[in-house]
Amino acid sequence: MIYLDNAATTITDPEVIDVMATVMNNFFGNPSSLHEAGQDAKTIIEESRKTIAHIVNCEPKEIIFTSGGTEAINLIFYNIGLQPSIKHVITSPIEHPAVLYSLEQYGLAEKTEFLDILPNGTPDLDQLENMLSEMPGAFVALMHVNNECGSMLDVERAGAICKKYNALFFCDTVQAIGKTPVDLHGWNIDFAACSGHKFHGPRGIGFLYKHQKHHFVPQTVGGGQEGGLRSGTENTAAIAALCRALELADERMDETLQRMSEFNKMLVTKLTTGIPDIRFAGDMNNTLPHILSIAVRESDTNFLLTQQLSDHGFAVSSGSACHAGSKTSSLLHLMGMPGFFPLRVSFGKFTTTKEVELFGEILLKMLNE
Ligand code: PLP
Repeated sequence: MIYLDNAATTITDPEVIDVMATVMNNFFGNPSSLHEAGQDAKTIIEESRKTIAHIVNCEPKEIIFTSGGTEAINLIFYNIGLQPSIKHVITSPIEHPAVLYSLEQYGLAEKTEFLDILPNGTPDLDQLENMLSEMPGAFVALMHVNNECGSMLDVERAGAICKKYNALFFCDTVQAIGKTPVDLHGWNIDFAACSGHKFHGPRGIGFLYKHQKHHFVPQTVGGGQEGGLRSGTENTAAIAALCRALELADERMDETLQRMSEFNKMLVTKLTTGIPDIRFAGDMNNTLPHILSIAVRESDTNFLLTQQLSDHGFAVSSGSACHAGSKTSSLLHLMGMPGFFPLRVSFGKFTTTKEVELFGEILLKMLNE
């Protein structure tokens, strides 16, 4: 199989698996135990927290390990829902379902306003500024990198606008961390979420970032792990593996970004040469190159495209994995491309030039049939 669905999840790096196995074999103690085995495991967790905090620019105590992005997002919205001082929520209609469903789940839906989506696939930040001037102190939830088309928000600007109007800023950095630099403190981000499986780490581990000035209450109570916010015995091996995956991603970020851009350009050139009027979602200068969203004309035959590609041994997806069964894309509609649905191709560090070439050939053949 040729795996081009890295925005859904990535192949776990063998080096990360080695770290996980080593920790499982040698550091099995319960991190809350006072004996040596427990304290050794605790040290691994705290060292991992420090390394991660350094990479994303925050304090170690602001990192709370969770099972991934969805859990982190739920904990944030649960707490926002409990704060009577939050009178307004501003978000966008293209957020991940973990965000959109949390609005309903935690009683925030009626306070929520949605920003318009620009043709480049990002929410309108001028409109954010206008809205915040009327609703200072609101809770703002916007994603850094869109999971369907890779469009990138100007997070620094969004953070500055939020600061100006005393708003709380949650940035969903799940598709960004490990792929593009993230500066949590520098960009005035109050809350963020991370998921290890998006950058060749294991599934089922991630973290919540919460600026230390904010106080949260837990959703899960028990032994009081993770500063009391996430009770339950920690998964030492998964935490160490998450840390190693992030270190590897960070060390080679420029090089990986360069390779992803080459793959992206190669595929765009091939498809454009074969089908001159082919369209892509988003502005190529403002998109994470790991994701290429090909805008396919909506018809029943085209909807079967991902299935046909799968039958030929290619793993890609129609939009996000969470919307894989849906026939139309509200994202493309909102971006001013009604009548199209996205065929999302997403590259990872194990993708090869040959795989991208082969994919381009087969896809061209199918689209021309
Ligand atoms: N946010 C975004 C933007 C995502 O792409 C995803 C996963 O696809 C999530 C949140 C949820 O993360 P997890 O799979 O770790 O629960």
